[in-house]
Amino acid sequence: MDRLVLKVGSAVLTHNNEIAKERILNLVTLIAKLRAKYDVLLVTSGAVAAGYSALKLDTKKQIGKKAIASAGQPILMASYKKKFDIYNIDTAQILLTEDDFDSRKRTKMFQDIIDAHLKHNILPIINENDITSTPEQLFGDNDQLSANVAHAVKADMLVILSDIDGYFDKNPQENSDAKIYKILHELPKGSLNDEASPNDPFATGGIVTKLKAADFMLKNGRKMFLTNGFDLTSAEQFLLHGNHILGTLFTPKEEIKVKK
Ligand code: GLU
Repeated sequence: MDRLVLKVGSAVLTHNNEIAKERILNLVTLIAKLRAKYDVLLVTSGAVAAGYSALKLDTKKQIGKKAIASAGQPILMASYKKKFDIYNIDTAQILLTEDDFDSRKRTKMFQDIIDAHLKHNILPIINENDITSTPEQLFGDNDQLSANVAHAVKADMLVILSDIDGYFDKNPQENSDAKIYKILHELPKGSLNDEASPNDPFATGGIVTKLKAADFMLKNGRKMFLTNGFDLTSAEQFLLHGNHILGTLFTPKEEIKVKK
């Protein structure tokens, strides 16, 4: 079976600092359908956002953010469990840091754990271990974490479910003529530096970390699909029926043969 890594961000999972229960249900329903066709892994954000409902500390301060993340993990996982129970899907939580990918031994360990989960029909739910790790040990954003996970588990595709429909040639919020890129084999020149270009209002960390993830996937011969996580129609149509309506597919000119 093809392997899919789905990554969902805090904006999709939470609303006004509370877990967005209906969106989680929609995501879980989609995952339940996808599992008929794919081995699915979920990379989720939302621990800090969920934790803030219980613990209102300053997220800009290191200890505040870590304390909130640790309060948020069980809230987030409990919300997932409630919804996955509807479909009788058992889940496992895996918390990783960037240095798990630096050591071959540690990478092999989590790869084997994930293989064991998938073999036994358990859905791995992955997040960064925001809690006891130092800033040097962290990717700091789950877009890059998910790309590294997708590569490590030899996924056939990474799907990023976001608050945007895809990658546009201009900021769609400010330019009504902005056009979505449907398929890209490489990133437009300079797009990874957008953050540093103050003239470009589209240069938010949000899109840049997604482009970095896409760049990583392309350079490793793998595919990434960036699409809307609020309305999952595009993801469902693409992944289950092969209809590419919205969303940007980043696909290498030459795909690597995935060995399982
Ligand atoms: N690991 C963070 C969390 O669970 C999210 C990081 C990100 O938003 O990319 O809150």
